[in-house]
Amino acid sequence: MTDPSKPDPAKPDTAKSAPPRRCPICGKPAEVRWRPFCSRRCADIDLNRWFTGAYAVPAVEDDETPPEEGGEG
Ligand SMILES: [Zn+2]
Repeated sequence: MTDPSKPDPAKPDTAKSAPPRRCPICGKPAEVRWRPFCSRRCADIDLNRWFTGAYAVPAVEDDETPPEEGGEG
């Protein structure tokens, strides 16, 4: 005989857990180990952004456009 009033021990208890977060970098489901990111790669990217924004390290300079010449005349 089985007792229907007893809860099923085989039932997972993750449904009540908080909703899965998404990696703010790529949008993939975040990993517990790298929360809130999905991997160390994305975590590093975010960290890099922080540094570049805080210290403004002149690492790359390929986004510079030369001024337009030949206007007067
Ligand atoms: Zn990611």
